Amino acid sequence: ASGRWDSILYAGRQDTAERTIFNMIISKEIPSEIVYEDDRCLVFKDINPVAPVHMLVIPKRREGLSQLRHSTQDHEYILGHLLRVAGEQGKAALGDNGFRVVINDGADAGQSVFHLHVHVIGGRELTWPPG
Ligand code: 5GP
Repeated sequence: ASGRWDSILYAGRQDTAERTIFNMIISKEIPSEIVYEDDRCLVFKDINPVAPVHMLVIPKRREGLSQLRHSTQDHEYILGHLLRVAGEQGKAALGDNGFRVVINDGADAGQSVFHLHVHVIGGRELTWPPG
């Protein structure tokens, strides 16, 4: 067996994470403030914002991406899409002001929901390094 199918199986084997609350947000079983959606991703406001603008960009189908560390070559298309949408929505919300794009991976980074998500944060001056 070659490349593509190997890596899909590999991703599935590595990633045995449970479904998360984001599934219920995607299915609209629980409400969220949706900013943008298309066939592949959903953008909604974070329930506990750390800045005046704080959105999450998530893939509608997790497909092994509970964490960035589980990404394979097969995820490159969706990962690229998530980043492009993050840039578009950051610009739409903040215009010429800057914003920050963050993916937390794992406990030390403070990841709490194991369905890959891109934070888009802005609307105030952000410090570096992050805490
Ligand atoms: P993490 O800490 O995993 O990088 O980010 C998870 C984010 O999801 C947190 O910023 C948290 O506030 C947000 N979050 C968790 N549950 C919900 C929810 O039910 N609705 C919304 N809108 N955001 C949530």
